[in-house]
Amino acid sequence: SVAHVDGVWFDDARDATIGVLDHGLLYGDGVFEGIRFYGPEPFALDAHLRRLRASARALVLDVPWSDEELGALCRETARRTGLQDGYIRLVVTRGMGALGVSPASCERPSLILIGAPLALYPAQALEQGVDVVTSSLRRAASDALPPQVKSLNYLTNVLASIEARRQGAHEALLLDAEGRVAECTADNLFVVHDGVARTPPATDGALRGITRDHVVGLLDAAGVPVIEASLVLADVWTADEAFMTGTGAEVVAIRSVDGRPFPAAPGPLTRRAQELFAASVRAG
Ligand code: PMP
Repeated sequence: SVAHVDGVWFDDARDATIGVLDHGLLYGDGVFEGIRFYGPEPFALDAHLRRLRASARALVLDVPWSDEELGALCRETARRTGLQDGYIRLVVTRGMGALGVSPASCERPSLILIGAPLALYPAQALEQGVDVVTSSLRRAASDALPPQVKSLNYLTNVLASIEARRQGAHEALLLDAEGRVAECTADNLFVVHDGVARTPPATDGALRGITRDHVVGLLDAAGVPVIEASLVLADVWTADEAFMTGTGAEVVAIRSVDGRPFPAAPGPLTRRAQELFAASVRAG
């Protein structure tokens, strides 16, 4: 894995460091994106940079690099990994400042890029589907830090992931503050009933996933009915099949939720989504 921190490249990301007074570390004050590259080209780079800027605007965080500069750095990161396919983590923090929550003393944001291979689940789970359990933690309410903002504040997701793994599952499903289905720890959720795929709207506590939007577009173009709809837990438990989408996960079948196995994993519509997705990222 390789890294870039404020203009300096590291051949091994383990050698890259950041100041202890960086507010990204002290307060989670920063934004990030995860971007996959297939061949030399970062996938959906424009959409990722747009979302990064939107998140930064919500945090009143200045991103003083142009899209061209950030794009060139992403490509350079991908190139330096020497990998055919891989993952780029792009992070912008508030930068170094005084102790104290206020960012007033932070003069310059820090820019971090990491390039590495990424496999979120074991190979067997990818073939047979992952086991998911509902987390006891809820996604933040819309009047707290909105989940649509991809900030460095991921503790709810971290704790949900710990909880899931302690229960022998691979992933956690989080509800929003009102009890609607939101998303998994780093993935959006789709459920299928009678050949119709549904995914929660981003207003129900989910990040508006770029993979989600891409898969919706692919299914739509292939004539598969797919809609955004608020879901409750029972909609998930009773689905014919379910899958998750995310940059890291790509398209992953779900085998069970809360100990309730789906009739098929991967189900036919999940397979379709996986095939369409795989073909589309190669097509460029
Ligand atoms: N939800 C959360 C909380 C995430 O961190 C991610 C990963 N960025 C996703 C959903 C999926 O989004 P995307 O498809 O843009 O990677």
